[in-house]
Amino acid sequence: MKRHRVVIVGGGYAGVKALKILAASGICDIVLIDQHPYHFLQTDAYELIANECSMTMVSIDLVALCLSYGEQVLYVKDTVREIDFENMHVVGENSGHSFDYLLLCAGSRTAYHSSVPGLREHSHGVKTLSNSLAFKQQFEQRLYEKMESEGGWRTESFNIVIGGGGLSGVEIAAEMAFYIRQFHLDNTLTCDNIHVFLIIPHENVLDGIEEYLVQQATKRLLQLGVKIINHSRITSVEEHTMTLNEKESVYFDFMIFAGGIVASTLTSAIDVPKNKKGQLIVDDYLALPSCEKVFVAGDIAELRGKKGNLIPPTAQSAEQSAEYAAKNILALMKNETMSPVDLRMRGTLIALGGKYASVSLLGWIRFSGLVGYWIKTIVMRSYRFRIHLQCAKGVQLLQKKKPSCRKGF
Ligand SMILES: Cc1cc2nc3c(=O)[nH]c(=O)nc-3n(C[C@H](O)[C@H](O)[C@H](O)COP(=O)(O)OP(=O)(O)OC[C@H]3O[C@@H](n4cnc5c(N)ncnc54)[C@H](O)[C@@H]3O)c2cc1C
Repeated sequence: MKRHRVVIVGGGYAGVKALKILAASGICDIVLIDQHPYHFLQTDAYELIANECSMTMVSIDLVALCLSYGEQVLYVKDTVREIDFENMHVVGENSGHSFDYLLLCAGSRTAYHSSVPGLREHSHGVKTLSNSLAFKQQFEQRLYEKMESEGGWRTESFNIVIGGGGLSGVEIAAEMAFYIRQFHLDNTLTCDNIHVFLIIPHENVLDGIEEYLVQQATKRLLQLGVKIINHSRITSVEEHTMTLNEKESVYFDFMIFAGGIVASTLTSAIDVPKNKKGQLIVDDYLALPSCEKVFVAGDIAELRGKKGNLIPPTAQSAEQSAEYAAKNILALMKNETMSPVDLRMRGTLIALGGKYASVSLLGWIRFSGLVGYWIKTIVMRSYRFRIHLQCAKGVQLLQKKKPSCRKGF
């Protein structure tokens, strides 16, 4: 059989899942292109922010990961800017790659709405590793400066504002409130008078998510002292001040924006049907309707369930869609029938500060508190453990090739 060449753009949850399946088939050569040499575990970002883990625990080396699958897999560090569908060629900033099959997994980015002046300039995002690190460092630096200037006794209030009440906004608000509470307990007066505000456009947090999780998350956020400001849209942002609903001003020392996503900038260079978020419209097999050899998976695609319902952009849907896309690519290579996508969400797991989480699995298993925390931890850690293990194989191979790179040399 002819060896086909598959190019995967994006080494996030979707990209690395597809890579694993395609590499295991042994019938194709794979090029994985990502602008960063690591896979960022966004789902663990709250742990990084709250100093629960280090940078190395939330990033997976893509060079080592690709190497672990053997010589048929190549990692290329580049930012893809264009796709020439006619000539089946991907154009990056520094390289070009021909393909027999293309899998787009370039994910999404924070939706800094252009209609909200100042939002991008004055807020922090958490979608990338560099953003999360910058956020963590700057937050701690600001906290330190306040402490230093006020001699440990915080007289003026310090306001942290989080825009957006979806999964990431809620997790970050809860984790920061918990972190501050812990800091206060450990250091008595230092973190007194620090407030966390969560600005949400709807009545409740986690709009569209099942009632049990909404109730549990709200209860926990309030317990942690988070002030939820509902029915509020951020209409403009200046340094330290934001306007809500075009009238009310809110002072903030630190702002995080987690109010939704739009597809990767790559989609603006592709002339195919998209939705309002720039996500690519796909057919039942996750291929682009105009190009049967180009597949799409993860946040960059508008994913729908069998009944046509929109599937939220999560790591879970990214992995599942990538599995379908990769298997359909293999089916085409082998002249077999492709399977229509049937995404089934197995559950939702929400970290709510410290050793507390709310989980809902398979529509009937529900836990909150320490049990929820352990379930979430097991799920997250097992993903992290398995991928680190795979990566370690690549590191070993690299060390064999370059003896001088061995530890201690
Ligand atoms: C704080 C936070 C908490 C979250 N918590 C959860 C959770 O608990 N559970 C859950 O299921 N989901 C959660 N999510 C959502 C989840 O992380 C995303 O849905 C998931 O990352 C999507 O995977 P993906 O592979 O589509 O995209 P990504 O993981 O974003 O990967 C995309 C990759 O493409 C690369 N890329 C982009 N453009 C280009 C280009 N032009 N050229 C080359 N490379 C490119 C990027 O560098 C990146 O590596 C959370 C998200 C955040 C931000």
